[in-house]
Amino acid sequence: MSNYYGSVEAGGTKFVLAIADENFKLIDQIKIPTETPEKTIQASIDYFMEHPVQAIGIGSFGPIDVSADSKTYGFITSTPKKHWANVDLVGQFKQALQVPIAFTTDVNASAYGEMIVTGLENLVYFTIGTGIGGGAIQSGHFIGGCSHAEMGHQMIKRHPDDLDFEGICPFHNDCLEGLAAGPSIEARTGIRGENMPENHPVWDIQAYYIAQAAVNATLTLAPERIIFGGGVMEVTGMLERVQKNFEQLLNHYVTLPCPLNEYLTLPSVAENGSATLGNFALAKSVLY
Ligand code: ZN
Repeated sequence: MSNYYGSVEAGGTKFVLAIADENFKLIDQIKIPTETPEKTIQASIDYFMEHPVQAIGIGSFGPIDVSADSKTYGFITSTPKKHWANVDLVGQFKQALQVPIAFTTDVNASAYGEMIVTGLENLVYFTIGTGIGGGAIQSGHFIGGCSHAEMGHQMIKRHPDDLDFEGICPFHNDCLEGLAAGPSIEARTGIRGENMPENHPVWDIQAYYIAQAAVNATLTLAPERIIFGGGVMEVTGMLERVQKNFEQLLNHYVTLPCPLNEYLTLPSVAENGSATLGNFALAKSVLY
């Protein structure tokens, strides 16, 4: 029997499939585009047929059903992504591969990976990219009683220079994702995020919103660390902008557990690898 662990990062634009040895050392990894569920899930199953593993961790875009006693456990549920609503993700892998599967959100998987690396058991992970998601771990466990957290859609207050922008969330217009996800930059200015100059004031507006998510997480969850992944955070100076806005908004109301530049930070695992590592560790956790 294989001693390897498998990882599936099910993203809206690509699936990242990987295997690791017992020490979570990466052995192989491929990326495939997210097309129809039939095509992409089958290609993923084929990969693990060729690379047998003893258990798989799946971190998926959502919303997903993570309630173990639910009839639709393991499903991607109400996603606006075409073809992917009500898809039984876990069931198809389980049936084809006959191995135990851990299932959580992509951001929870990233949070878990960061916990493994840092040893911190109370942390929050936000991804700020095409969409925004947040995962949180408290005392080593994911938060959420009957489902997973949806911190990307929290309500926030408007930047005074951004009052005319409607926001792009199909459900709420001007929630955090509607105001601060990557595509909001083009919707607001007509310029795609990757072409936007680093000193453009729109980055301060983004940072103001992202900082509010960090303030809210600080006040509601009191984590030891808040980690930001995703493409928007890779813009030069973005983390520093978020830190500055955070400091002003929080206004020293609570004492942080560590210096600000350690408290609000980029991922410890390089190249957005936190989710892959998290999936391996979650795969292990369903075996033992
Ligand atoms: Zn929303």
